[in-house]
Amino acid sequence: MPRVAIDIEALKANWRTLDALNGKGRTGAAVKANGYGLGATRVAVALFKAGCRDFFVAWMEEGVALRQGLDEAGCGEARIYVLQGMELAAVPACLEARLTPVLSSLADIAAWGEGLERADCRAPAVLQLETGMNRLGLDADDLPIVAAAMEGSLDVCLVMSHLASADEETTQSERQHAQFLRLAAEFPKVDRSLANSAGCFLGPDYAFDLTRPGIALYGGRAGAASEGKLKPVATLTAAVLQVRTAKAGEAAGYGGAARLSRDTRIATVGLGYADGYLRADSGAGVPLRDKSPGAEACIAGHRVPVLGRVSMDLTLLDVTDMPEDLVEPGTRAEFFGPNIAIDDVAAAAGTISYELLTALGKRVERVWP
Ligand SMILES: *Cc1c(COP(=O)(O)O)cnc(C)c1O
Repeated sequence: MPRVAIDIEALKANWRTLDALNGKGRTGAAVKANGYGLGATRVAVALFKAGCRDFFVAWMEEGVALRQGLDEAGCGEARIYVLQGMELAAVPACLEARLTPVLSSLADIAAWGEGLERADCRAPAVLQLETGMNRLGLDADDLPIVAAAMEGSLDVCLVMSHLASADEETTQSERQHAQFLRLAAEFPKVDRSLANSAGCFLGPDYAFDLTRPGIALYGGRAGAASEGKLKPVATLTAAVLQVRTAKAGEAAGYGGAARLSRDTRIATVGLGYADGYLRADSGAGVPLRDKSPGAEACIAGHRVPVLGRVSMDLTLLDVTDMPEDLVEPGTRAEFFGPNIAIDDVAAAAGTISYELLTALGKRVERVWP
C-alpha cells in the first residue's frame, strides 16, 4: 500500500524557522483540511510541543475534532480558530469545544452575538477584514456596525486579513498591508495577524502579533525567499509490483499514450490517482505534456520518469537507465520527499504542493515516527 511518512522533527524545525522570522510576534499554524492531509491532531500536538499555541482550521467540525485530540494529548491551552462560517446553531458546539470563531461578515457577527446571548456567556472572537482578495471579510463600510457590537457583547481578541499574492512578485501584498493598517487602526488595542507562509518571508513588517503559516510547515515552497530554508516533511512512497521489459515500438499504459522508442524496462508501482497522485503528472497522454515533461520518482537514489498515463491504482516508471539489480517487486519508489521536491511534482501537474498534500487519499497510510 502507498504510504506517506511524516518527519516530525522537520515539521518542528520548519515551525521554528518561521518563528525566528517573526520578531516578537507569535507563530501559529494552519492545520485545516486535516493538517494539509497529514493528520491535524498529530501535526498540532507536535507543534504544540515546539511551542505553538494558535491553530487554524476551516470548519467548526474540524475544530471540535482537533480540540478533542489536543485535550487527550494534554494540550488544553491550545487556541483553536475556525476560519469560516458562523451560524447560530453552531454557537453551542463552538463554546463547548472552546473554539474561537473568525467572523467575516455582519451576519457572522449577528449569529455569534445572538448565540452568546442565548448561552448567556461571553467568549472572544476574531474579525476578518477584507483587504483586496475579495474572498471573505468585513469591509470598511461594515466597521461602524462592528464598533456598535463591540460596545455590547462582542469581544474581539484579534483582527486578521489574508494575503492573496505573498508568494509572487507583485505589489498586491504592499497594498493589502497598507489597507490592513488602515482598517486595523479602528481596533487600536486588539492583536493583529496578516501573514500566511509566504507572508512570513516578506519581512518583519508583515508579522504583526501572530502569523498563520500552513504550507511552509509541511515543507512546501512559500515564495522565492523560502527557497532552501524549509525541510521536506512528507515522503510519499509506494512499492513496485512488477518489472517488465517492453520492446521498441510497443506502447504502455492507457491509450497507449507512451510510445516506446527503445526497449524499455518498466516498473509498475502501486500508486494512482485514487491515492491523490495526480493524473496530470502522467508522462504522456494528458494536456500539459505538449509543454513540459511529466513527474519523476526516485528509486534507490535514481530519478526515473513517469511513463504514460497514471491510472487509478497504478503508475508506470521508466527504469531503463537505472541499474537492473536495484529495482524488483517490493522495492519502494519515492514520489515526493527528500529526493523529489513536492513543488516539482506539483509543477509538472500544473498545480501547487497544497493540492498534492490535501489530495492524498484515504488508503495512503500516514506513518508517524
Ligand atoms: C490556509 C490559510 C492560511 C495558511 O496559508 P499557507 O499559504 O498555507 O501558509 C492562513 N490564513 C488563512 C486565512 C488561510 O485560509
